[in-house]
Amino acid sequence: MDYLPLHFRLQDQTVLVVGGGAVAERKVDLLLRANAGVRLVAPVVSPGLRERLSGHEIMARGYQAADIEGVSLVIAATDDPELNERVSADARRLHIPVNVVDAPALCTVIFPAIVDRSPLLLSIGSSGTSPVLARYIRTLIEGLLPEGINRLAHYLEGKRPWLKKTYQNVDLRRRVTERFLASPGRELATAGQFEAADRYLQPPGDAVVAGEVFIVGAGPGDPDLLTLKALQALQQADVILHDNLVSTGVLNRARRDARKEYVGKLGGGRATDQKDINERLIQLAGQGHRVVRLKGGDPFIFGRGGEETEALIAGGVPFQVIPGITAASGCAAYAGIPLTHRDHAQSVRFLTGHPKDGRVDLPWRELVSPGQTLVFYMGLGGLGAICQNLMSHGLSAGTPVAIVSKGTTPEQKVVRGNLETIGGLVARMQIDTPTLIIVGSVVDLRRQSGTIGDD
Ligand code: SAH
Repeated sequence: MDYLPLHFRLQDQTVLVVGGGAVAERKVDLLLRANAGVRLVAPVVSPGLRERLSGHEIMARGYQAADIEGVSLVIAATDDPELNERVSADARRLHIPVNVVDAPALCTVIFPAIVDRSPLLLSIGSSGTSPVLARYIRTLIEGLLPEGINRLAHYLEGKRPWLKKTYQNVDLRRRVTERFLASPGRELATAGQFEAADRYLQPPGDAVVAGEVFIVGAGPGDPDLLTLKALQALQQADVILHDNLVSTGVLNRARRDARKEYVGKLGGGRATDQKDINERLIQLAGQGHRVVRLKGGDPFIFGRGGEETEALIAGGVPFQVIPGITAASGCAAYAGIPLTHRDHAQSVRFLTGHPKDGRVDLPWRELVSPGQTLVFYMGLGGLGAICQNLMSHGLSAGTPVAIVSKGTTPEQKVVRGNLETIGGLVARMQIDTPTLIIVGSVVDLRRQSGTIGDD
């Protein structure tokens, strides 16, 4: 480790900034955020700096060694290498921390990339090797931190006196806080529900804190289509119950030591009974686990999420539903087909095309009215019946149809035809499930640019 990361409290301290341009501006902005007093020295001072630094010291002249007196930190942000070197040497002689912008060799301290969710602060440094890399990692971390993480920090700060009074033993106090952070209390505090969070601040050995179930939409296939919230849930899961539609790529984003249980169809066999899944969710949560029920697409669109939430309510298990990108949105976007369009479709309907005893029962008369796009989930087996019914109820045989297979994955295929031809086209090709059927004139608007897969 070539550097020791420290968080520098600058309130009531003075920082010397040498330089009067854009680079100095960026540093001054940071210093002001940290409530530092600024002494700025530069022959030419930008209007932006003058504006920012009203109430601070501005010296519009060249740097002099005496400027450094009484300051806690020195920043050189000039484009004159000799001057930068002089400032650095003066600071080091007096053992004052110094940063010279873009010259790690002249620095005793360097600025990290910062994630500022005050009071929570994360600093990411690359020891001067690549600030761009540090900033890249910052964006990755930003995405993982829930929006209200600062509320959690404030909550825990507020609880400190109470914790100290209630649990004199330091170790016990630490364990109570750790346990809280692994419980649903953490989510509640993050969401600002402080009173509800309080009941999870308990010592180990007290009544088992109930686990929690997250019913999570995994999106249609491409793991990058997971929401940030879904990713957070996957990273914190103890157990994950998943089924066929969830891709390996998505499962790979889960916490490494989370237990994964498959509850889908195996080798054409029967799917696990919904009742058994409901019971398993309740059982696992009752054992105190954070359980993720991971479903393809969105849990509330042909996902039986509604049945699971009912069971969880009846079982008294706390739960959250995290929406996902449903197959219709994902497939349409990746196939370049807009589901609505001012000139073509003013509404879009999501339907199940799953045939029962060879029949697809749907309100066909409504479906043939103009200006709408129809999206059939689970429809491949009923494709012939769907096309027949739409035509016999009045849609023209030439109405465009697209079949999207394995949408949003690298194996995505799009087959286009019309109500009359699509059945034959599909029969002649190898089409893998899952597939989605899109019917309507928007299909003809298909644009290739930015899409994957091909007809
Ligand atoms: N809850 C899911 C739908 C589950 S029903 C969602 O919101 O997307 C299962 C059906 O979804 C499949 O039969 C298929 O019609 C559709 N589907 C899911 N993923 C798909 C994909 N990657 N490509 C095409 N269709 C998909």
